[in-house]
Amino acid sequence: MSEQQNYQILLYYKFVQIPDPEVFKDEHLQYCKDLGLKGRILVASEGINGTVSGTIEQTEQYMQDMHANPLFADMVFKIDPSEGHAFKKMFVRHREELVTFRVEDELDPNMISGARLSPQQFYEQLQRDDIIVIDGRNDYEYDIGHFRNAIRPEVQSFREFPDWIRENLSEHKDKTILTYCTGGIRCEKLTGFMLKEGFKDVAQLDGGIVTYGKDPEVQGRLFDGKCYVFDERISVPINQTDEDIIVGKCHHCGKPEDRYINCDNDACHLQHVCCEECEELHHSCCSTECEEIVAASHNAS
Ligand SMILES: [Zn+2]
Ligand SMILES: [Zn+2]
Repeated sequence: MSEQQNYQILLYYKFVQIPDPEVFKDEHLQYCKDLGLKGRILVASEGINGTVSGTIEQTEQYMQDMHANPLFADMVFKIDPSEGHAFKKMFVRHREELVTFRVEDELDPNMISGARLSPQQFYEQLQRDDIIVIDGRNDYEYDIGHFRNAIRPEVQSFREFPDWIRENLSEHKDKTILTYCTGGIRCEKLTGFMLKEGFKDVAQLDGGIVTYGKDPEVQGRLFDGKCYVFDERISVPINQTDEDIIVGKCHHCGKPEDRYINCDNDACHLQHVCCEECEELHHSCCSTECEEIVAASHNAS
């Protein structure tokens, strides 16, 4: 750990009834701002889901204060060292659902959810050849890194999962299904949904890829590429062994690459995998069209 790493990034969630989420949201935003944190927190009547960054002192204070609240006494925080903030601002937002799933029935992970596997248990299960592994994230997250042999879901947002599962996996209801996502929250809902749909044996990676990557025993084994994250880092390494592989491909030239950039055209902003040479060659744009728009705006100003 370098000396500059005196910041931390916290990733956490908890499904618990929050009595008045709108009021809680306002108070929590003020509290986070006063503390000096930056990040993004979602609050719903079903719980809380957040990623925040701050100095070690600020983030330790936050965890201590949250644990002092009976609602969040047993909240698990995933902690990453950082050289600075991973966000520009502090947002706390009220949402109907912590992860937008929009299925007909309400899904309470405290009532129904798949078996929770530790990183070691998950690693062992991964090596069976009679199982199905589903990546519980979006396609663009899968594209820069995923567990070996996991199925790439053809979804661009989480709410597309129910249809995708019904269309693609209905004939496999008797098989063992493993799911995983970044920090675990999406799988809480996804596995609950699958159990309700009649899948017999569904298990999820407890704590997600982020926790898996920190486990001293498995050391991220069988995870290829990098893990997409929703902060300024964009991606983080997971596999600490020498089997580290680049699985992404440059959007322009197709060569192995795992860095995402945002298209420079403000009206586009498409996040795409791009190698350094192509970034320069295409002026940080995703397409010729976007390049022309950006060039035109430069000429006009
Ligand atoms: Zn390229
Ligand atoms: Zn573009």
